[in-house]
Amino acid sequence: MTDTTPLTGAARAAALGDEAQGIAERLEQEHGVRPRLVVVVATEDESTAWYVRSITRAAARAGIACDTVRLPSDAEAAAIRTRLAGLSADPGVHGVILQTPLPPGTSAADLAGAIAPEKDVDGANPLSLGRLAAGLPAFAPATAEAVVALLDAHGIGIAGRGVAVVGRSTVVGKPLAHLLLDRDATVTVCHSRTADLAAVTRTADIVVAAAGRAGLITAAHLAPGAVVVDVGTNPTEDGGLTGDVDAESVAGVAAALSPVPGGIGPVTTALLLQHTALAAQRAVGAHP
Ligand code: NAP
Repeated sequence: MTDTTPLTGAARAAALGDEAQGIAERLEQEHGVRPRLVVVVATEDESTAWYVRSITRAAARAGIACDTVRLPSDAEAAAIRTRLAGLSADPGVHGVILQTPLPPGTSAADLAGAIAPEKDVDGANPLSLGRLAAGLPAFAPATAEAVVALLDAHGIGIAGRGVAVVGRSTVVGKPLAHLLLDRDATVTVCHSRTADLAAVTRTADIVVAAAGRAGLITAAHLAPGAVVVDVGTNPTEDGGLTGDVDAESVAGVAAALSPVPGGIGPVTTALLLQHTALAAQRAVGAHP
């Protein structure tokens, strides 16, 4: 039995935060502009509130302004769209995120179409996903990009490797498949209708779990020595978080596993700030 290396996100997140801070300081000194991120929230969901607080804290550390716009949890789609369009037109705003969950009867992909692509720092506008698929410059959804950033940070090769992505959402699975293809991986995307999930994931060098099902991935799903990235964040009864991977089961089978919390989460947050800093840099016409 070999040890399973923890693929922690703190070091990569700190480096991305420093990068964002460096850009923010330069923009302030040279252009009198402070990068500003606005998070639009239309839910009373407690885990969303926790996530928004963690973005706000990380933004403050990086010298990026971060405001929250709160809308009622029964807001109409038109009202949310109008708000997003207003923020998109505001020259003092550089990044806009629409938090989920959203009011019943509204669609994230539909509403996010109102976020200007150049401010779409979480890659939610369908135009961003289309550009990503076409290999054109666009902000990728931060969580999908965080998977690639975490693998890179730990020196895990992607080119030529077989990667099984468990989950096909527009936020994680689909954009991640494009990012991995761009890095020359051979990608298989699995979902709830995949006939024999374990048979597919056992053929992969790298397994990414993004299903939102606690403990879904066990040792039976892995080839010995597989690298496992756990994107899942599932609330536990004691108020904590657990991933999609049964960490106890895969210990000693997986060569490496990203912890939950402490793996993908901090890198995702840091990428949102880095994207906002880059968006501000482009908005003032400054290039590195
Ligand atoms: P989602 O929209 O609910 O999508 C889940 C995907 O997993 C769907 O494609 C679904 O298949 C698939 N799936 C569900 N059960 C499955 C099963 N038993 N076997 C195989 N596939 C299954 O969720 P999401 O927004 O992509 O998020 C996924 C997870 O990542 C959640 O736990 C979420 O909290 C977490 N997340 C974390 C971060 C972070 O920063 N750490 C950010 C975003 C999301 P179908 O398409 O067939 O329904």
